[in-house]
Amino acid sequence: MTDKSWLEVSLIVNGELAEAVAEVLARYLPDGVAIESTAVVAGPEDENGQAVGPLRVCGYIPVDDHLEETRQRIEKGLWYLGRISPLPNPEFTMIHEINWMEAWKQHYHPIPVGKRLIILPAWLKPPKGRRIPIRIDPGMAFGTGTHPTTQLCLALAEEFFISAEEVHGLKVIDIGCGSGILSIAALKLGAEMALGVDIDPEAVNASRENAELNGISTQFKLGIGSVSEVRSGEFGLNQAQLVFANILTPVLVRLLSEGLGELVTQDGCLILSGILAEQSSQVEISLETQMLHLVEKRKMGDWVALAARK
Ligand code: SAH
Repeated sequence: MTDKSWLEVSLIVNGELAEAVAEVLARYLPDGVAIESTAVVAGPEDENGQAVGPLRVCGYIPVDDHLEETRQRIEKGLWYLGRISPLPNPEFTMIHEINWMEAWKQHYHPIPVGKRLIILPAWLKPPKGRRIPIRIDPGMAFGTGTHPTTQLCLALAEEFFISAEEVHGLKVIDIGCGSGILSIAALKLGAEMALGVDIDPEAVNASRENAELNGISTQFKLGIGSVSEVRSGEFGLNQAQLVFANILTPVLVRLLSEGLGELVTQDGCLILSGILAEQSSQVEISLETQMLHLVEKRKMGDWVALAARK
């Protein structure tokens, strides 16, 4: 591990100001500036499909002989900007040791999920026991198995497999596959094939690598896209008995109106997650509108997952 330290500078501002603040920071910060969403946001989407809300703009000042000078320049730049449009004071936080990947790997342990699965970081040996290992190296993609929304999906999927009359030949469609974790679990639980799509090419790459890690590449098809591409038959499969979408409420509501429910076969099941408890009714109403009825609702912390059938 390196012992480099950084002074993180951050401000929470509204969407309109974020670009201007980022521009000021970027003038002094050679390693770039990030604009992050502060929450899994409750509001509707903007035109690009992004959730809207306050944003956190942050950058990292290297701790070296120029630290104080850089910090003063940033404060001055922000002060000028603040005269045009009021800004909160920047927050400064010292950050030691920057080998994020290693630090993260050290804190990532096997996670038992449901009754039959265990999520394993790719670099660990499977522990002894009966649980089916799902090996995941998430790379940059979402879906390490640590998030409640993923765990809720996996637990509901497990139940689906227990109750399914016939697992043989079962197909899966996974909208927003991220690391591929849901499809890989479904394949390990006995599905014949899965199609995973994501609008983020990094996710598709991560899914492909994880498919190899788990020895199920030939059964896991992948593509860049979403509901409409799957519906149009672009990837061959356009209906499945088990369909997952673990994305945020506003996106789920939109995808339902674009025909997400059409991807489920008559005897199939749609598992939706990524829903904050207080937003669940929005998704439930959309399900009803699409003639899908709720068969199960599971909660974990602030999150809800829904299972629906035709
Ligand atoms: N399925 C994984 C990842 C969920 S994160 C899991 O359960 O852990 C949500 C994923 O959906 C992200 O990878 C994101 O890129 C993708 N996504 C967001 N909006 C989407 C859309 N409209 N269509 C398809 N994928 C989308």
